[in-house]
Amino acid sequence: MTLWTRTTLKSVFIPGGIILAVAALFIQHSWIPFTPSGLNFFYYAVFVAALALSLRFRSLRIVFGAVVLLLAQYALQAKGSLHLGQGKMAFEVIALLIPLDFILLTLIPERTLTREHLIGIVAVLFFQSTFVAVFSRPDQPDWSLLHFSIIRSFQLRLTQPALLMFLIAFGVFLYRVLRFGKAIDHGMFWCLLTACVALEVGGASRAGIAYFAIAGLILASSIVESSYSLAYRDELTGLHSRRAFNDAAASLKSPYAVAVVDIDHFKSINDTYGHDTGDQVLRMVSARLANVSGGGHAYRVGGEEFTILFPSRNAQNVFQHLELLRMNIESCSFRLRRGEDRRKTPRETDRRAAPGRKTKTTRHPTSGALSVTVSIGIAESRPHATVEQVIESADKALYAAKQGGRNRIEISASEKKGRKAKASQTT
Ligand code: GH3
Ligand code: MG
Ligand code: MG
Repeated sequence: MTLWTRTTLKSVFIPGGIILAVAALFIQHSWIPFTPSGLNFFYYAVFVAALALSLRFRSLRIVFGAVVLLLAQYALQAKGSLHLGQGKMAFEVIALLIPLDFILLTLIPERTLTREHLIGIVAVLFFQSTFVAVFSRPDQPDWSLLHFSIIRSFQLRLTQPALLMFLIAFGVFLYRVLRFGKAIDHGMFWCLLTACVALEVGGASRAGIAYFAIAGLILASSIVESSYSLAYRDELTGLHSRRAFNDAAASLKSPYAVAVVDIDHFKSINDTYGHDTGDQVLRMVSARLANVSGGGHAYRVGGEEFTILFPSRNAQNVFQHLELLRMNIESCSFRLRRGEDRRKTPRETDRRAAPGRKTKTTRHPTSGALSVTVSIGIAESRPHATVEQVIESADKALYAAKQGGRNRIEISASEKKGRKAKASQTT
C-alpha cells in the first residue's frame, strides 16, 4: 500500500483538488467570467478536450466518465425545473446513477478495451438513458423510494439515497487512491465530488453548468497528470524516476549536495523472502526517502539505488539529515504479509545467506518483521566539476561506505581533502 508521503499527498490534491477549490471560490461568489453562451462554449470545449485527450491516451474510464456527465447534464437541461414532477424525478434518478456509473467504471481495464466491455458499457448507458426518460414521464407515479429520508431535518437538494450512493463511491475511490495511487483515480474522485456539488447547486442552473464544466476540466487534467506520472514517476515506489532525476540534475546550480543511497544486501532479501517482499521493502524505504529532511528531493535511479539532490546545501549540512534518515530506516521493521515468510531453504544463488556470512538484513523471529539498512555516499558541488563528476564522487563515497561495513554514511574524499586544505590555509 502506498504511504501518505509528501509526494503522494501532493499528487492527490494537485491538480483536481486545487481546480475544484479555486472554481468553488469563483462560483460561490458569482464570479463566473462568462456570458451564458460563453459558459456553454466553455462547457462543451472542456468536454471535447477531455474526450480528445482520453481517446488519444486510450484512457477508457475517462472517455466513459465524460460521456456519463454529458448525458446527465443533457437530461437535466431537457427536463427543466428540478422542483416540479418530471424534472424532480429525472434529477433524483440521475443523482443516483452518476456515482453508480463511476463505481462501475472502475471495473473497466485501462487502455485495453475488449468488444465485450464496449458492448456492455454502451448497453448500460442506453438502458440508463431510457430509464431516465421513462421514469420522468408525467404519467409516472411518485417513487418515494427515490427520496426516502432517514434523517428528518435534512436540508440538501440531493436526496438521501443519492447522497448515500455518492458516499459509497467516494469510499471506493478513496480506497483506490490509497491502494494504487494512480492519477486517473485521483481525477475521478475529484470529478465525482465536483459532480456532486454541481447537482447540489441545481445541475441545470448557471452554477450547475459551471461545476459540470469544472468536472470535465478535472477529467482532462487527470489525463495530462497521468501521462506525466508515467514519464516522471516510478510506478513501484511513487518516487520521481530516473528521467525526472536527469532533468533536475541538468538544471542544478551550485551550491548543491548529492547523496547516493543503496539498500544493503538487498539481493538476499529477494532470494530469501521472494521478489514481492523485495518490492514491499523498496516501497517502505522509498516512503522514508520521500520524507527526508533538509530540503532533499529523492529519485529512484536504479533497482534499489536512489539519489537525493539537496539544492543550496553542502555535504556537511546534509550529513545530519541523512544520518536521521539512515537511523529511521534502520529502526523500522517491515511487517511481512502472510505467505511471505522466510523460505524454508535459501536459494543456491543466495551468496550472502550462506553460513558464516554476516548479513545486516535481520528478521525478528517473534513478530515476523524484517528490517533493512542503507549505505549512503555524499558529495557536493565543486568549482569546474560537472554534475556527473559530483555524482561519481558520491558513488565512490558510497562504495567506501559499503567497504567500511555498510549501514553508514561516507562523505566523498575530495570534499574531505578540500576541507583539510581550507583548514590548513586558515591555521
Ligand atoms: P550491497 O549491500 O552490496 O548493495 O548488496 P545488494 O545485494 O544490495 O546489491 P546488488 O546490487 O548485488 O543487488 C541489487 C539487487 O536488487 C539485485 C536485484 O535482484 C534487486 N532489484 C533490482 N530492482 C528490483 C526491484 O524492482 N524489485 C526487487 N524486488 N528487487 C530488485
Ligand atoms: Mg544494495
Ligand atoms: Mg545496488
